[in-house]
Amino acid sequence: MAEPTVADARPQVRPATEGWQQAKDGTGRPLLQFASPKRGKPPVHLADLTPEERKAKLVELGMPAFRAKQIATHYFTHYTSDPAEMTDLPAANREELVRGLLPPLMTEVRRLTTDKGDTIKFLWKLHDGALVESVLMRYPGRITLCVSSQAGCGMNCPFCATGQAGLTRNMSAAEIVEQVVRANRAIANGELGGKRPGETTLERVSNIVFMGMGEPLANYGRLMSAVRTMVAPQPDGLGMSARHITVSTVGLVPAIHKLAAEKIPVTFALSLHAPDDELRDELIPVNSRWKVDEALDAARAYFDATGRRVSIEYALIKDMNDHGWRADLLAEKLNARGRGWVHVNPIPLNPTPGSIWTASETAVQHEFVRRLEAAGVPTTIRDTRGKEIDGACGQLAAAD
Ligand code: SAH
Repeated sequence: MAEPTVADARPQVRPATEGWQQAKDGTGRPLLQFASPKRGKPPVHLADLTPEERKAKLVELGMPAFRAKQIATHYFTHYTSDPAEMTDLPAANREELVRGLLPPLMTEVRRLTTDKGDTIKFLWKLHDGALVESVLMRYPGRITLCVSSQAGCGMNCPFCATGQAGLTRNMSAAEIVEQVVRANRAIANGELGGKRPGETTLERVSNIVFMGMGEPLANYGRLMSAVRTMVAPQPDGLGMSARHITVSTVGLVPAIHKLAAEKIPVTFALSLHAPDDELRDELIPVNSRWKVDEALDAARAYFDATGRRVSIEYALIKDMNDHGWRADLLAEKLNARGRGWVHVNPIPLNPTPGSIWTASETAVQHEFVRRLEAAGVPTTIRDTRGKEIDGACGQLAAAD
């Protein structure tokens, strides 16, 4: 390990909450909620069903099966659920037909815009009043949507705003997909700024990151159903590339192995935030179940199964996890599992309500990156968007 430098000669701040109470379980540990509280189920929607099930559903509604494809075309290629726009359907029972397969899933409560229109944060209200957010971002050559997979989150990480209110419920597959369809509709309507004259990129969401509200791997079945619909060719689905879909997890090890076995090459990201169990136990409550080494082994196994380079997310928190020795230890643990399989994505901490912590200083960030790179670990600081509208990583709390 490298000689101690100024990067190490700093205090060790320990995670603590201030201004809010972290929910605890019966033994006094931070509460972890894996099971979704029982609430009224969202209506079954086209995007919850496989193409075969869609046909069966139509027959059940007393309509010919081939209409399923027509409705799917409207939804997945024209991004509409409005019967008035579906003039190829028989006028007599069009309303009934569309209501049967495309029931309303969410209403837009509010949208906030920043970056000269290049970033939009949507607040959605689900059928039961649960609130979720998604963040749409235009970058040169791509359009990324950060989607939610749960209303709230049960993982209770003290530095993340979403966890503070606990888990409201799992989102359905269709509620997950609908965020993309609605974003595509907004783009098609010219509501996302920044399109340059002569720009040739497709005007629709090209990249999805499951980094909105929720722990996607705690809602595994619906996550995978949504991913299958995202990658299914149009008009059965959105025709997206699996490689452009990133699933980010706090480290639910058995579910990571399951994901690796799916043979859908989505990009995988692990929210590590500390290379040592002593700190990670306090920062990421689920570390009580699966330790740093188990999570890293699972990440490496994901690479082995898919050939996809994995990302390690690391929120840099001043004097808490940003010491030089931690960069060295992280590099050591990653290199111990081989070369070329991983890259590190440090994210300067975004402020959340009641948090006493702040982002690391710029010089410290650079030193952290320098040490990883010196050890041969590719590292890029994540450009965070949407801080001004509380739309950046860890800031989604969905308050009305
Ligand atoms: N539950 C999943 C996905 C949602 S969070 C996960 O934990 O990976 C998406 C990313 O934002 C995660 O890496 C998360 O740790 C990070 N994050 C959470 N709060 C943050 C904050 N206040 N500042 C910066 N990043 C944060």
